[in-house]
Amino acid sequence: MKDKSLPFHKVIYRTIHYGYQKLAAYFWLYIVICIVLVMFNFLSIKVLQNLFDTVSEAVSNGGWNQAAIMVLALGIILVIFRIMSGVKEYFNKLYFMTFMSRILKDMNAKAGRLRLLEFESLKLYDKINMAIGGVNYAIRSSIDLINGVIYYAIFFLCIAVYFYTIKPVLLVLGMLIFLPQLLSNYIKGSKMHKLQERIVPYERQSDYYRKCLVDKTYFKETKTLGASDYFIKCYRDKIGEANNERWKVVLKTSVMSCVLTSFTYLGYIAAFVLLTYYLLNGSLSVGHFAAIYYSLSKLMDTMREMVELFGTVYENASLAGKLYDFLELPEEEGIDKKIDLIQSIRLENVCFRYPYTDKNALNNVSLEIEKGSHVAIVGLNGSGKTTLVKILMGLLQPSQGKVYMNQEDVSTWNIRSYISKISAVFQNYGKYNLSLKENIMLSDVNLKADDDYILHKMDEAGFDYQKESIAGELDVMLGREFNGIDLSGGEWQRLAIARGIYRISDFIVLDEPTAAIDPIEEANVYKRFEEISKDKTVLVVTHRLGSVKTADRIIVINDGEIVEDGSHEELLKQNGFYSNMYLAQAEWYKRENTE
Ligand code: ADP
Repeated sequence: MKDKSLPFHKVIYRTIHYGYQKLAAYFWLYIVICIVLVMFNFLSIKVLQNLFDTVSEAVSNGGWNQAAIMVLALGIILVIFRIMSGVKEYFNKLYFMTFMSRILKDMNAKAGRLRLLEFESLKLYDKINMAIGGVNYAIRSSIDLINGVIYYAIFFLCIAVYFYTIKPVLLVLGMLIFLPQLLSNYIKGSKMHKLQERIVPYERQSDYYRKCLVDKTYFKETKTLGASDYFIKCYRDKIGEANNERWKVVLKTSVMSCVLTSFTYLGYIAAFVLLTYYLLNGSLSVGHFAAIYYSLSKLMDTMREMVELFGTVYENASLAGKLYDFLELPEEEGIDKKIDLIQSIRLENVCFRYPYTDKNALNNVSLEIEKGSHVAIVGLNGSGKTTLVKILMGLLQPSQGKVYMNQEDVSTWNIRSYISKISAVFQNYGKYNLSLKENIMLSDVNLKADDDYILHKMDEAGFDYQKESIAGELDVMLGREFNGIDLSGGEWQRLAIARGIYRISDFIVLDEPTAAIDPIEEANVYKRFEEISKDKTVLVVTHRLGSVKTADRIIVINDGEIVEDGSHEELLKQNGFYSNMYLAQAEWYKRENTE
């Protein structure tokens, strides 16, 4: 699978369209400011020409009053020009900040609408990183584009017409000065674009190593292992590799830029020699000479600015494209469906393959889970249990095959509908740095339940909210991030179960939420869970078999395929995969207990 980036012209279109869509009023205002500015800029050249002509006239025939008025006019124009430039700068900043906050809002909303499948691939995280980098560039490009197209285009047009009316050859020289710069920035832009794509993986890796050093999930272990130096070295290596790539590009582009800029200066000198020649042979007035000379140097500055601007637009726009790549990722879609009760979920010849892998995680799986049954899915690590559960929960869509809920094909439903009556507790449950109450209510923020209901759910999950640090206080903050209290692994796990059962549903999934606790405690949790979910459909995933003996049905999965299906007794009699696994684990526990 290869990712294709948006082509340049599309990025430009999106940038202008996006900017306009988000901030139309700023857009127009900015354009007006640009036009006024360019008018004053051009006016200053014309007044300068008149000033010099009047002065040279005054030297031979008098008329200094006229010259003084010209000086005054020029002064006023230059002051207004400065003020307008300041206003333009101010609008640049205002536009930038407002645009930034709107794009970030859009990005967060987009992340919430993405399909879970996107999150299964690390490429998504690269895309998010690039998109966040791209935000800045998208905004800058949109400002630069307006600036470039409106301000510089009108300015150049005015100057071009002005030069042409005086001496057409000046127009040609002007173009020659400008082209090498344009070329240099175009090449620079495209090289920077490719560089960015190459270094993002290094940055992600170095970021990860930094996390291993300072993040609280790794910090303690890294210290205890004495592995800090190792991670520092890994971090340095990755930063070094990224910098190497950067230096190579910077060196190449600087040399090229140096060579091409020399041509620009040569063109400038040629123009100056030509002007002097015209002045000496009398085909140019002093006023014209001064005004052209002034506008040539202004043109040089403006060209440099403009070429740089277009170069950065090219460079920025390609990075801005990353933002649009992200905003164009496929979203959850499908029709809304009202589900009152889940009678059954059925899979028919389901296969599933994760993005960027070359092997199916599930192969030809067919099974039906009926209302009220307690089903355990067991198998070795990596056999496909979690993938199967995610398909059963509608979080992933099969690559092949069909899923039916209440005998209806769900392929056209949206995930919110599908999952509306399912609750789940996963192995990597969230330890949210929120209040105790919020931690539970998160599973259904629309459910207007009172505190008694929340306490009842905590009782059912066996969470001790009377302990000293909580003392029945539902608003107590949890987690260290905001100076809350921390819980033990088992407490977080019970809290996750309370959150799972807080949501009113008749289909509950437990995907190894007990992996972090010992087998005896785990058996207790499952027993308690069986009691509180008597009338519900329960799907339990585990690789420890002792705790799920009492399930109505045990589905054994191996290498992505269902290999056995039946009750504990039936499967033991089969003397197959389950029986071997069960006896091996029983033997291990016996040994553990006698040692
Ligand atoms: P289990 O839950 O039984 O441990 P999983 O369903 O998590 O197994 O994984 C089944 C197979 O799919 C494994 O080979 C695993 O490496 C692969 N797999 C799981 N998640 C991903 C992912 N996000 N991207 C690529 N491969 C994955």
